[in-house]
Amino acid sequence: MASGTLDIDLSAITANWRALDAVTPQGVRTAVMVKADGYGLGASPIATRLRAAGAEDFFVALAEEGVALRAALGPGPRIGILSGHMSGDAPILAAHNLTPMLTSRAQVARHLHELPDHPFGIQLETGMNRLGLDPQDWQAVAAEVLARGPRLLMSHMACSDDPAHPLNARQLAVFRAMTDGTGVRRSLASTGGILLGRAYDFDLTRPGIGLYGGAPFADARAVVRLSLPVVQVRALAPGQTVGYGATWTASRPTRLATVAAGYADGLFRALTNRATLYAGSVPCPLVGRVSMDLVTVDVTAAPEDLPDQLELLGAHQGIDALAQAAGTIGYEILTALGSRYDRHYGQVAA
Ligand SMILES: *Cc1c(COP(=O)(O)O)cnc(C)c1O
Repeated sequence: MASGTLDIDLSAITANWRALDAVTPQGVRTAVMVKADGYGLGASPIATRLRAAGAEDFFVALAEEGVALRAALGPGPRIGILSGHMSGDAPILAAHNLTPMLTSRAQVARHLHELPDHPFGIQLETGMNRLGLDPQDWQAVAAEVLARGPRLLMSHMACSDDPAHPLNARQLAVFRAMTDGTGVRRSLASTGGILLGRAYDFDLTRPGIGLYGGAPFADARAVVRLSLPVVQVRALAPGQTVGYGATWTASRPTRLATVAAGYADGLFRALTNRATLYAGSVPCPLVGRVSMDLVTVDVTAAPEDLPDQLELLGAHQGIDALAQAAGTIGYEILTALGSRYDRHYGQVAA
């Protein structure tokens, strides 16, 4: 096996979804965010599994993603499209029963003109300044839109992973001012919002990263294990250098393993001389530059009988720890995992 192995634990994802669902009172539904192919882990297997666990609401970014998800899920569950109703989407939305979350007055006009009887939701802009109708636009069209029976009024929070950030309460107040009294189902919280407190619940929560084991859901179960095969091992004398640019120099006799994954597989080049891989439980530093298909690892401290694979993600190092080494966030670690891994959907940890 020349490629790395990516184990994705659907039981852990299910446990994380149930745990986040249990944070909110009964009657508050918990959706499943599977945009970007389920944060890179596989939208279809994840959604199918969570559907079996009771999830009824799914969201993706693009209508095209919704088509694939509808094929996996069948006709029942609701699938929301976060980019709303883009030009040319009408036939796809109609054919696959996808619910656009309309983002602007122009989208509202397009949708009501092109698909007047097709379900839709509305995104409201409350402080993130990314997607949605701002308060003035909403005021102008609210009466007309509410008369057409939107399925959901939603907004998204900019700082909900930081409970102390003043924008959280401000966005909550704006959202309430825009939606109180409408009688329409509402949704504000992603993973961070669920953990902020019950004022953010409304009718539907929209966790993503927490399902996949990432911050800010500190109690999440780990979901991924990434094991990378050792291609060869060599001995270096003090003074010898490693990799492109010769950025690392052995200061002592060194055993060096060359491992089959690189920046084309989501091991960011920023991890050069910064990441740790594990030989069993022994931490081994990545040394030298990350190259396209390979990294080099100082395995001097590992047992003589080196395992066939070194672990980059798993029990010893989660996505947030690796993200910190790379100067990014767990979301980007997951969505960057490449297509070359041998993917297994099963149980990662007991
Ligand atoms: C991605 C996304 C979410 C999920 O956010 P997490 O931080 O991953 O829980 C929820 N709502 C919207 C609109 C999103 O784009």
